[in-house]
Amino acid sequence: MTITRISLLSLFSSSVLFSLLSILLSLPSSSSSSSSSSYLYPPDKQSRTRDLYSEILRDEAVARLNELGKVSDADGYLERTFMSPASVRAGILIREWMEDAGLTTWVDSMGNLHGRVEGINATAQALLIGSHSDTVVDAGIFDGSLGIISAISALKVLKSNGKLGQLKRPVEVIAFSDEEGVRFQSTFLGSAAIAGVLPVSALKISDKSGVTVQDALKKNSIDIAEESLLELKYDPASVWGYVELHIEQGPVLEWMGYPLGVVKGIAGQTRMKVTVRGSQGHAGTVPMSMRKDPMSAAAELIVLLESLCKHPRDFLSDCGNCNEFTMESLSTSLVCTVGEISTWPSASNVIPGQVTFTVDLRAIDDVGREAVLYELSNRMYQICDRRSVSCIIERKHDANAVICDHELSSRLKSAAYTAISRMIGEVQEEAPVLMSGAGHDAMAMSHLTKVGMLFVRCRGGISHSPEEHVLDDDVWTAGLAILAFLETHM
Ligand SMILES: [Zn+2]
Repeated sequence: MTITRISLLSLFSSSVLFSLLSILLSLPSSSSSSSSSSYLYPPDKQSRTRDLYSEILRDEAVARLNELGKVSDADGYLERTFMSPASVRAGILIREWMEDAGLTTWVDSMGNLHGRVEGINATAQALLIGSHSDTVVDAGIFDGSLGIISAISALKVLKSNGKLGQLKRPVEVIAFSDEEGVRFQSTFLGSAAIAGVLPVSALKISDKSGVTVQDALKKNSIDIAEESLLELKYDPASVWGYVELHIEQGPVLEWMGYPLGVVKGIAGQTRMKVTVRGSQGHAGTVPMSMRKDPMSAAAELIVLLESLCKHPRDFLSDCGNCNEFTMESLSTSLVCTVGEISTWPSASNVIPGQVTFTVDLRAIDDVGREAVLYELSNRMYQICDRRSVSCIIERKHDANAVICDHELSSRLKSAAYTAISRMIGEVQEEAPVLMSGAGHDAMAMSHLTKVGMLFVRCRGGISHSPEEHVLDDDVWTAGLAILAFLETHM
């Protein structure tokens, strides 16, 4: 679900891969992350740490990530959802850290936390840097939080150097209240509100206990009505651009032995809810031939989804809008997941009356994604007809693929290069360019302004898991990259 895919063309056409590979192959153990990091971070780095703000960008940032990672609604694992008690406690902590970095803070009516410094020209277009403070269930501590904390740390370095007030334009860090969409099944509540693309109907979406988005905010003393939601939208003329730093959530950077990558674009995604209704009955008395079993139908629908997403070419031969580029991009980027299923009445001796499951479908090419959805829906309805059950397919969330701004991406690439050079003395290669299969707040923010993203290497490419891990030195490099970006371009 959170696979990050490298742009194969850019990877294989560049000499970067081969030179990195040759570096990796010359190491005693080329496959381990520790060996590649020891190449990138030689032992003599200690002599340079004084100039590289290790206390703020590494030690304090890592301590804060660990501290934030303990702020959870659950015992024994990390879970922090939109407007939950833990998310409010996390907001208090992040706010303290923003103020410690010299930022003026406030919480908006969608629960987003902002920290801003005006610089020398408060009316200039602002740079926004953000990521999300909510998590999935049983989450890792870096997803979202790393982007917020590295931005705060970089600004704290500028404050300690007396340069914070000299920024040419305002810089605003935003900790978005909802990106994962765990509680309301609708992602980007926070960033979509700021980008002005959150429909007012979102306020009425309910969680599993019937609490609406509006109720959840009200419970935390935030009154939001339709007008105040519309007022959250930033004026595009007041914004210069949006930058997000995030863990890669995939294995490519680790494989390449590189701590940072520049994101070329983010896959589009659709989330659906499929409800299958049949005839509820006694498991012992209704003959097999007379059943209208929604569970068996759901199983067939899920296997269909898997087959279609594994072999899209076999299913889309009639697709009029699909050219070779679309077919190729589907073959390399299409991923589909059923992550949640529920049944009613959910008893071992009852043929269910209803089965509901979710579908998460992602692809880099929007035309291809639509073609897949069209074909999938048609075939699902045919299966339901054949099995005499009823099917309702609801699209709950759609986000088009986003291509990052070219100029902003080059600036981020040179910032990454500067950071890595400062860490290891000299570096030959530029940061690699990746595509993201995971959604990010940058998708919503692209409706407001130009966006650019940096990825940070994570161990084994694992995320959405307590196993998620980023090396302390990579946290440091990430902070240095944001610092280099601010120092050079702001
Ligand atoms: Zn994330």
